[in-house]
Amino acid sequence: IEIVNTYEKIERTTSRIEMTAYLVALLKKVPKDVIDKVIYLTQGKLRPDYEGVEYGMGEKLVMRAIAKAVGTGIRTVEDYVKKLGDIGSAAEILIRKVRSKPVGLVAFLGEAAIEEKPLTVNRVYNTLLRIAKATGEGSQETKVKLLASLLRDAKPKEAKYLIRTILGRLRLGIADMTILDALAKAYGAGPGSRPIIERAYNIHPDLGYIAKVLAKEGLDGVKKIKITLGIPIMPMLAERLSSPEEILHKLGGQCIAEYKYDGMRIQAHKDGDKIILFSRRLENVTSFFPDACELIREHIKAEKAIVEGECVAVNIETGELRPFQELMHRRRKYDIHKAMEEYPVSLFLFDVLYIDGKELLDTPYPKRREILESIVDETDRIRLAHWRLIKSPKELEEFFEQAIADGCEGIVCKSILPTAIYQSGVRGFLWIKYKRDYRLELADTLDLVAVGAFWGKGKRGGTYGALLMAAYDPETDTFKTVCKVGSGFTDEELAKLPEMFKPYIIKHKHPRVDSKMEADIWFVPAIVMEIAGAEITLSPLHTCAWNKIKEGAGLAIRFPRFIRFRPDKKPEQATTVQEIIEMYKRQRKVKVR
Ligand code: ATP
Repeated sequence: IEIVNTYEKIERTTSRIEMTAYLVALLKKVPKDVIDKVIYLTQGKLRPDYEGVEYGMGEKLVMRAIAKAVGTGIRTVEDYVKKLGDIGSAAEILIRKVRSKPVGLVAFLGEAAIEEKPLTVNRVYNTLLRIAKATGEGSQETKVKLLASLLRDAKPKEAKYLIRTILGRLRLGIADMTILDALAKAYGAGPGSRPIIERAYNIHPDLGYIAKVLAKEGLDGVKKIKITLGIPIMPMLAERLSSPEEILHKLGGQCIAEYKYDGMRIQAHKDGDKIILFSRRLENVTSFFPDACELIREHIKAEKAIVEGECVAVNIETGELRPFQELMHRRRKYDIHKAMEEYPVSLFLFDVLYIDGKELLDTPYPKRREILESIVDETDRIRLAHWRLIKSPKELEEFFEQAIADGCEGIVCKSILPTAIYQSGVRGFLWIKYKRDYRLELADTLDLVAVGAFWGKGKRGGTYGALLMAAYDPETDTFKTVCKVGSGFTDEELAKLPEMFKPYIIKHKHPRVDSKMEADIWFVPAIVMEIAGAEITLSPLHTCAWNKIKEGAGLAIRFPRFIRFRPDKKPEQATTVQEIIEMYKRQRKVKVR
């Protein structure tokens, strides 16, 4: 209940200072041996994110647990949820109701909730952990039973927050940094303690663990926290500048510039044959990249090491780098071996943070790079990021152009001064990125043929809301759809569309049109229009390049925009399917985050 009272206060405040003060007050009351559990609970977690612990209880199961706890049918719970719009609040009200009934009636209801023993941190935490750990056959029943057992002893508002925690909806918005502040205030020795605690957090980002060490061993204990294989290190990040002159000036006249590959950042931990991969957000992504693990296992010549690099989708035959989007196909739980064949990856390593018991964070970059070079057995699939020593803006610009031409999104310029340490968890000027602006714009517009239309609604009632546009496929002499365009028209142009298309309207889809979409109105392919767009993406809805890039998908234009009519072009002179395939392959600058 102490924790829940703190949740309530935090929910009511918008001030970070007050939020920290409430946390400090709570932490000061907490016995040392449960401090870690209290920290996790204030974050709505059981373990740090990188361990990926999940409750595995959806809304249905949670509602069943509530029904069981209060001795009612699932319907009643559902009704309350509908009325209140929140399962936590429904649990709160239902439990309050049962509690207010006379004792005799509660006895009569049999299973109904009776507050017996107050909930303690240990009991709540351990039960939640058992809920998370229950897997396999019969686990759903176990989860329901365990949660119901907690709810039966919960005060109404405890029930509300328990449910929110289980459903991942606690959302108190307490940042990790706020908790570090609170820890420093509650246990630290003065203002100097905060950087020490933060350093520990950056190399061992487990707030519960840090809190426990701090509470039990004080700041000296925290100082001794070390890099541990299997626990991710907060990545160092780059600042951005927009001219080679500024960059060189900032870095003291010279630097190492490296290609900025457009893939996914990977931090690989090697402990003998055991490899763990973490993403930039410290998720454990090992299972998505068995091939990358194999590359690390086979080609890093150190028993224990932590290296960083960019994992990039590649075309194995040509060695070409592939767009970032292709990597996303690798983030799946099933059929990973098929995905591995379809979307192979290469690794471009750019840092080493630890090697055989030695921490390298305070080692200047040129030395770290040297060590990295000495432990990587380079092949086509795993190598160091391409680099050059740069001494003038001209050299920097040239290297940048070369990086773009080679399919990268720019370069990262790194300090080579003796002060160039690895700043874990910091975005600073020891690394400066220089990249082509993402204007989210295709370099070229397309000339497409209108093959159908959809009626507009609201303001556009009476005219077309959007036109169905297609590219020309000379091989089959057909028009294949690539987008629906509804923006970029002036009101005047819009109003004129029905009149303009009248001569071309037909009852059915034209035989030369290949479309999966059902338009409201079909046209004879005749009118060509110039269309701009943000990017070309895979799409299950459009027939352009169907099965060409990917089985069961065509290509589509994202955010298409009408530019002008092209009366000078015949429909057979429209952009071809092949050209769109080429554009898709060329675009590499767009990064989705
Ligand atoms: P962005 O969206 O520009 O990648 P970010 O916030 O993810 O930004 P930054 O630290 O600002 O990360 O930019 C550096 C990122 O570039 C790294 O996180 C990494 O994923 C990627 N990268 C690619 N090649 C390199 C390289 N040679 N050295 C450092 N980072 C590289």
